[in-house]
Amino acid sequence: MGCGGSKEKAESAPKKDKAEGKKAEAKAPAKEKGDKSPAAANGATGKDAAGKAGASAEPVDAITKGCVDDFFYKFGREIGKGGFSIVYEAVKKETGERFAIKRIQKNEEGVDIDLLKREIYIMKKVDHPNILKLFDVYEDEDYFFLVLELVEGSELFDKIVDLGNYSEKDAANIVNQIVRAVDYLHSHGIVHRDLKPENLLSAGEGENEVVKVADFGFAKNFGEEKLVTSCGSPGYVAPEVLTEDTYTNEVDMWSVGVIIYILLSGYPPFYDESPPKIFKKITEVKYDFDDPAWDDISETAKDLIRRLLVKDPAERLSAKSTLDHPWLKGEAKDSKLGGSVIRMREFNKQRKTPN
Ligand code: ADP
Ligand code: MG
Repeated sequence: MGCGGSKEKAESAPKKDKAEGKKAEAKAPAKEKGDKSPAAANGATGKDAAGKAGASAEPVDAITKGCVDDFFYKFGREIGKGGFSIVYEAVKKETGERFAIKRIQKNEEGVDIDLLKREIYIMKKVDHPNILKLFDVYEDEDYFFLVLELVEGSELFDKIVDLGNYSEKDAANIVNQIVRAVDYLHSHGIVHRDLKPENLLSAGEGENEVVKVADFGFAKNFGEEKLVTSCGSPGYVAPEVLTEDTYTNEVDMWSVGVIIYILLSGYPPFYDESPPKIFKKITEVKYDFDDPAWDDISETAKDLIRRLLVKDPAERLSAKSTLDHPWLKGEAKDSKLGGSVIRMREFNKQRKTPN
């Protein structure tokens, strides 16, 4: 666990004051602290997948070379796993404060280092109560280490299932927080691109529950091919991501529509036995409210979903308009969604089963 363990690494980058490991230096000279040339910034492809305005023209000067364990943090237990990363609990040696450290393997297929660096830069700039905070980034030969705010709860959907009981109103409260985070990102020219239950964390209980949007699609390059072959969940992807080369903010709003649908019914709107079949349903926007699970759900909730799961991105509600929708303005019903929780338990089990 922890650092990338080669001997060379141990020789080259153990201390902060001589932190420029030779191999890392050779590979990516532009990353040196203090190198503020725009070339250093982007080294990246012209594809502006994550951040648009402003973000791509800035230098990534926030990465310290060397393994995080050699510096200020001590690794603890593993608390999560993503497609390209393992997340550990960690303690800051000096203060005893707890953090989460996300360790990303560099040579993993699908990890786009330039994109990763750009996203690190973006995430260091964002500051919002519903967005997971990134404090520090380290890099050794084999890994990137992202020091993150520790969420002492769990993934949102697991929490809902553990709770066993929640209402449409609770769902609206959760959605409100997600959309506020998305609105903040969009107003800063950032598209998340990977909103789905695994990337929504929840801290605190009841009235004090705070939802945190995590995982800025760090290692993901959203080409169609990647999506088809990726082990991620294809069910959240907007139609234009499957058919067009360019797409913007609206893809996140589609995902929000999918997330609301699952929150209220406990099952996904676009579901089939294989990704190609799912994609077909998505591009045809083939979903319905026919299941009895929807009988007790308010028309207002369905109306919001209908305005988000819209094929033409230009017609889809924006984050701002979603925040103004009556369902988020207090029209959500108080009645409990017991059946949905039972289904969500099943849904959670399935999505966590490796394929
Ligand atoms: P990936 O980019 O590889 O998908 P994520 O950032 O989504 O990685 O993290 C993987 C999992 O680790 C998450 O689904 C979540 O369960 C857990 N996790 C991530 N960040 C934190 C955090 N800051 N606090 C607690 N758990 C976390
Ligand atoms: Mg993730």
